[in-house]
Amino acid sequence: MSQIGSETNPLRVAIVGAGPAGFYTAERLFKDKSLHITVDMYDRLPTPFGLVRNGVAPDHLKIKSVTKVFDRLAKKPQFRFFGNVELGTDVSVEDLRNHYHQIVYSTGAQTDRYLNIPGIDLKNSHPATEFVAWYNGHPDFRDYEFDLSQERVAVIGIGNVAVDVARILCRTHEELMETDIADYAMEQLVNSNVKEVVMLGRRGPAQAAFTPPEAKELGEMAGADACVLPEEAELDPLSQASLADADRGTMRNIEIIKELSQRAPSGKSKKLTIRFLVSPTELSGNEAGEVAGMRLVKNELYQTEGGTLRPRATDQFEEIPVGLVFRSIGYRGVPIPGVPFHERWGVILNEKGRVLDEESNEPVLGEYTAGWIKRGPSGVIGTNKPDAAETAECMLADLAGGKTLNPAQPGLDAAANLVQSRKPNFVSYEDWLKLDELELAAGEAQGRPRVKFTEVEEMLKALGKV
Ligand code: NAP
Repeated sequence: MSQIGSETNPLRVAIVGAGPAGFYTAERLFKDKSLHITVDMYDRLPTPFGLVRNGVAPDHLKIKSVTKVFDRLAKKPQFRFFGNVELGTDVSVEDLRNHYHQIVYSTGAQTDRYLNIPGIDLKNSHPATEFVAWYNGHPDFRDYEFDLSQERVAVIGIGNVAVDVARILCRTHEELMETDIADYAMEQLVNSNVKEVVMLGRRGPAQAAFTPPEAKELGEMAGADACVLPEEAELDPLSQASLADADRGTMRNIEIIKELSQRAPSGKSKKLTIRFLVSPTELSGNEAGEVAGMRLVKNELYQTEGGTLRPRATDQFEEIPVGLVFRSIGYRGVPIPGVPFHERWGVILNEKGRVLDEESNEPVLGEYTAGWIKRGPSGVIGTNKPDAAETAECMLADLAGGKTLNPAQPGLDAAANLVQSRKPNFVSYEDWLKLDELELAAGEAQGRPRVKFTEVEEMLKALGKV
């Protein structure tokens, strides 16, 4: 057999997870023109692009235009998409080892970090990740219910996901018409009773996890006044002292927060308040078992030995009435059966993208990881590019060193036959392009950028696959 990576014996790569990390890995692999590489990308959903479709806020269409880059890659003859095929259900890790020289897991962070306080499991208290997936039309979440008849909503956390959730709750009908939000979500949000949204930051303005463009956008909504309590916009002495080393983003956040704290309300129908140095300690319920209130403790900051400013509870408490709660304190990776996982960090055990064996801590031959399941849920979409390049470079170095799997059936047809036999109604990239066209046409008919399919059955029907 000729060398792996040659024309007659191309390097066969399976990428599991069709989000940005998966696509950027393929992009880096294809850059090496001296090698012949073919990529099969698997996704459990019929649609590609992962969080770009199901996580990025529907009113951030510009961010979603990154799919043009992925689309160009997917149209290369060396690339195939096997959508609607789930690893662990339709194909196993063992199947992939039998068909590919290298496997990349780029499955993202599919669940949320839990907040362990009394009352957190009351009715109307939800992980923000579920709400995000719901309003984005993720098929697994379309039937979730959120009680938007409530007037007051608390969002725990002040990262960009919390900002997205707060903003979507505040958007007007006109603003939502310009988005690709799921149609059912638009209808329910337009008819919602929400009047007040409170975002809760456990540290101060200098430690806010949101980024300046997102913070600024909160102050520019058509139907909601954004505000900050003047006393909470002030920096505590430790934060003040830390400014000497602060980056531009932090300085800009502080400025925006200050400006919001000085604004007089303009009488818009909704109000969004960003709070600082407070932590929820307990949710209280009514007779129906629904959230009715939240107890907050005031925090102060202290400096750890490493120099980080951390929150510490004081003895000052307050109660706020809330009828709906979203906890937005970070995503978390889900283990893949048979793939080493670091439980505490919620990531696949790896070094620079090489999957590591749990016992020996040595690289597992031919297995790699990229994106949030590799490094944890941090950074913007572009962060995945260098992250994926690091993984792809390890893959290429291992190929050069002769360290690949030795699959029994490396042929292109063998993998296609495997998928065809296990999941006859798999969705190819060509199929996706048809769905894409139908979604865009449905959007045009309604004067919106896109109306998404939100049910797998519905997508398969449109493709004549059921
Ligand atoms: P994140 O940026 O890590 O923010 C998590 C937030 O939860 C922080 O405010 C954190 O506060 C807070 N938190 C954590 N544990 C808490 C606790 N026990 N009690 C109270 N608050 C707690 O995570 P994310 O918002 O889920 O976003 C994930 C990544 O996606 C981020 O890198 C984000 O920038 C990115 N993203 C980007 C965009 C965009 O570019 N527009 C949109 C969405 C998401 P501390 O800082 O005190 O830990």
